[in-house]
Amino acid sequence: MVNAAQPIWTNAQSQPDAVALRIDGVEWSFRDLRDASAAWGARLAGAGVAPGERVLLAAGTQAEWVFAYHGILAIGAIAVTVNPGSTRGELRYFLEDSGAVLALAGDSTQAHLEEAGEELGVPVWNLNESAAPVTESDLPRSVEPGDGACIMYTSGTTGQPKGAQLTHHGIRGSARSISEALGLTSDDHFGSALPLFHVFGQVTIIRTAYELGIPVTLMTKFDAAALLETAARHGVTLLAGVPTMWNAMSNVGPEVDSLDLSRLRLAISGGAGLPTEVASRFEERYGCEVLAGYGLTETAGVGACPPLDAPHKPQSAGIAWPGAELAILDTEHRQLPPGSIGEIAVRSDMCFKNYWNRPEATAKAWHEDWFLTGDLGRMDDEGHLWVVDRIKDLIIRGGYNVYPKELEEILYSHPDVLEAAVVGVPDERLGEEIAAVVVLREGRDFDVAGMQAWMSERVAAYKTPRIYQVVAELPRGSTGKILKREIDRSVVDAEGLRTART
Ligand code: ATP
Repeated sequence: MVNAAQPIWTNAQSQPDAVALRIDGVEWSFRDLRDASAAWGARLAGAGVAPGERVLLAAGTQAEWVFAYHGILAIGAIAVTVNPGSTRGELRYFLEDSGAVLALAGDSTQAHLEEAGEELGVPVWNLNESAAPVTESDLPRSVEPGDGACIMYTSGTTGQPKGAQLTHHGIRGSARSISEALGLTSDDHFGSALPLFHVFGQVTIIRTAYELGIPVTLMTKFDAAALLETAARHGVTLLAGVPTMWNAMSNVGPEVDSLDLSRLRLAISGGAGLPTEVASRFEERYGCEVLAGYGLTETAGVGACPPLDAPHKPQSAGIAWPGAELAILDTEHRQLPPGSIGEIAVRSDMCFKNYWNRPEATAKAWHEDWFLTGDLGRMDDEGHLWVVDRIKDLIIRGGYNVYPKELEEILYSHPDVLEAAVVGVPDERLGEEIAAVVVLREGRDFDVAGMQAWMSERVAAYKTPRIYQVVAELPRGSTGKILKREIDRSVVDAEGLRTART
């Protein structure tokens, strides 16, 4: 039996009354979770949803999302989990592109989905509409390891978002692998405010927790102080989040200082590079180690993770997860020796099956059995990985490669800077010029000359940003990740404070 929903049934047998899920203070046991998931599975099957058919799930964090998701998987159908913040046009695109036979809406997505569903002839159900409980005894159904379990959309560099199809084997394997890498035990307890439609919340947290039979405490909306308070109240041992969350938690007021976070043992960071300064501030304030790993949607979250039993190498994303291999490839896809910078590739049977309906994009994403991540990195001779940057974020200034992440690290270490993003803006003379877009800490004034001096003391002249722009906030994606592609280069170029050219 390889169905990824199986652990829900197994735990309902072995520990029916144990807490499986807690959202904003309300709790469900493994028995509740199994019964509600079985009811969803039976309801969907009763409506004619067949194995391999897609069901779109577009809602914010709520228990019914978790129940319906496992119901979809349990009947061998494929859950297409999308951002509930999507526009009407985006929802219509996801519905059409995935060929979903049914859509499950939250209250916030209902109206848009209904319009799109009507145009496409796809029925839309509201997740919160109660239906008569139905039961089906033969769940979860048996599936093949390579059968699709879920589809998650990634935006990619160009064109429309692509639906990465992950398999039952892939998401189960990923859950077991991270559990092993992090040394999780039945005493652990996840806490997070990450969205469920994304691989981090859905596979790395939910699937891992249920594979192991431990509780997940979720918040519907991220609030730094409230997440810490919830973690303290319920004895969370593992907090999962993206760098902006650790940053926000490090900067909350003294009201959290009296919280008892003694059970908190690991803060698991993912989704984007974690500036050293942000990690150190969190570690110092809460006495809890931050493990910053590396993974992608296409790899079912699998990638690298700092080893627990060996000293961490500064700024390294760690070693390959159990069951995965990492390599650094040149532009001809030849493996590079330790120390060289090239494209990070991942080899694992946990990786995605394909981009839904996109054979060309799927083929381009692979070289033989290596998945090409689109990220630049290097490895040392002990297999430790350093993620240098995304290939698409690389700035080429006057023919020199400039890696924004290196500069962002330095900006974050400046006492006035709360957040920073370094981007390239078009420049006639140099091709691209380096711009630093910063959010200042409260009450600080920006001193462009002082900032220029701070940077010049720490990096070579060709890499120092020449344009600085102070903004109130940086654009963010669904998980809270800073979205560089949404920083308007023309505005930064026109309004940024320029320092002398060199
Ligand atoms: P979208 O563009 O749809 O928001 P995405 O391209 O960010 O999605 P995800 O699968 O959400 O795709 O995130 C994977 C990417 O996140 C990686 O390709 C990498 O660029 C970045 N990332 C993840 N972990 C790290 C890390 N430890 N250091 C640096 N970058 C990371």
